[in-house]
Amino acid sequence: MKGLIWFRNDLRMDDNPALRNACIECEEVQAIYIFSSRQNNLHNEANCKIEFLIENLKILDQDLSKINIPLTIIDSTGFKDNKDIILNLIKDRSINKVFWNNQFGNDEQNRDDNVTRSLKKNDIEFSSYHEKVIFSPGSIRTAEDKPYSVFTPFKKKWIENFNLDLLDIEFNYLSKKKTLIESNIFDFKFKYKQNHSVDMSMWPPGEAHAKDRLKLYLSNKILRYSQDRNDPIVDGTSRISPYLANGIISPKRCILEALKINNFELDTGEKGITKWIDEIIWREFYKNIMFCFPKVSQNKPFQDYTNNIEWRYEESELDAWKNGNTGFPIIDSAMKQLKSEGWMHNRLRMVVAMFFTKNMLHDWRLGEEFFMQNLIDGDFSSNNGGWQWSSSTGTDAAPYFRIFNPLTQSKNFDTEGLFIKKHLKKLKDVDKKEIHDPLMETRSNCNYPYQILDLKESRLRAIEAFNKAKN
Ligand SMILES: Cc1cc2nc3c(=O)[nH]c(=O)nc-3n(C[C@H](O)[C@H](O)[C@H](O)COP(=O)(O)OP(=O)(O)OC[C@H]3O[C@@H](n4cnc5c(N)ncnc54)[C@H](O)[C@@H]3O)c2cc1C
Repeated sequence: MKGLIWFRNDLRMDDNPALRNACIECEEVQAIYIFSSRQNNLHNEANCKIEFLIENLKILDQDLSKINIPLTIIDSTGFKDNKDIILNLIKDRSINKVFWNNQFGNDEQNRDDNVTRSLKKNDIEFSSYHEKVIFSPGSIRTAEDKPYSVFTPFKKKWIENFNLDLLDIEFNYLSKKKTLIESNIFDFKFKYKQNHSVDMSMWPPGEAHAKDRLKLYLSNKILRYSQDRNDPIVDGTSRISPYLANGIISPKRCILEALKINNFELDTGEKGITKWIDEIIWREFYKNIMFCFPKVSQNKPFQDYTNNIEWRYEESELDAWKNGNTGFPIIDSAMKQLKSEGWMHNRLRMVVAMFFTKNMLHDWRLGEEFFMQNLIDGDFSSNNGGWQWSSSTGTDAAPYFRIFNPLTQSKNFDTEGLFIKKHLKKLKDVDKKEIHDPLMETRSNCNYPYQILDLKESRLRAIEAFNKAKN
């Protein structure tokens, strides 16, 4: 039997159920990846993320070739033509069965529904699998058989239902029958032009590298995760997100390796480890929200009343935020980190998102879009969840009247101002007493802007806008 594995957001061999099953069921296996720069633009994929994707495809190609699976990259105009691409390929190459791993999200599900319909119509076998989450999406439910919309009870149920068999992922790939098809990755002209300023040496591609990163984190830092995770200058988090978001490593692999060093205890044992696993469950929670409440991937807020909020729109403020010129050092240094690393520390993502949606009172969708356009770990459900949490429009969101004060956040989490100084070179010599809120004279000497808004006034303005929308 001849099988086709359709790679999408799962560019790895480890814990890849579609690839594994194709290899078990078929003596000959071929692989494809459908690349569309138009679709990438429609989904606001960051330029650095596309580069990362291309480099990962090259490594996947090498890994697959070791077991005689050729990878063909196919150019496409977007999700709409995928059905015809797959069907033509099946006919041209006499494929018997197609395998893929599911993606969530409205557009992805529509694409897959179209492909599925056309395969059924043409009597072609196919199988699809879940590898983005531990439990099938939507299967963790309340006693009333409803999806959860609050994290803590979701997590409790998740832990109750968990058993180690869910992590049975080890698989030894054997060589497949040689095929006449040749991989085309080095001849394929990716429609991609680099325009980012991210230091890509921070994110070496390939699943071997992702596993090494995980291993190093688990052996060195995870035990201090609870203490270090909120301090942006300490590299206290795993930075595994670009690999998870692009499917270079699986959440099951992450949890399995963490459990191995915690006596296989999920919610007891080392605090750092259990806290870190919690975060992987947060990721799964947001994927479930996206699956169970399609409105969140249709540009709508989770809390309907927030549709009534009268967001402001001030181009100059928007530009100042995007370019790190707000006059609030913690905000500006975080935005510089985003530009230079394609990544931002979680605490700062919350701080800049809350500043944007509350103090600036700008529509969360604009911030969400800008993050997607710049993050190498851009992941629709986590990004949407994070933005809707920060703007109090989402599920389990921060109450709208609890607004982070960026100066207090700065003093609490970057006490010595070392993060600010690292990313905001203009302020590198400023005394730590002033670093969170430089004096007028210092600002002028350093050519650093004045604050674009008044914190107290803008806080009250936000609360008023939310009150008005609610009543
Ligand atoms: C406004 C906003 C936007 C965000 N956008 C994204 C995004 O596009 N992509 C993304 O992967 N994460 C996003 N997050 C979540 C979080 O900031 C990142 O996952 C985290 O900073 C990644 O760093 P890490 O791998 O070192 O995380 P670690 O702390 O080491 O955590 C391990 C993994 O758990 C998951 N995780 C951690 N925190 C969260 C969280 N709050 N929500 C969901 N999953 C989490 C991630 O997959 C992460 O890689 C966003 C958060 C906010 C507040």
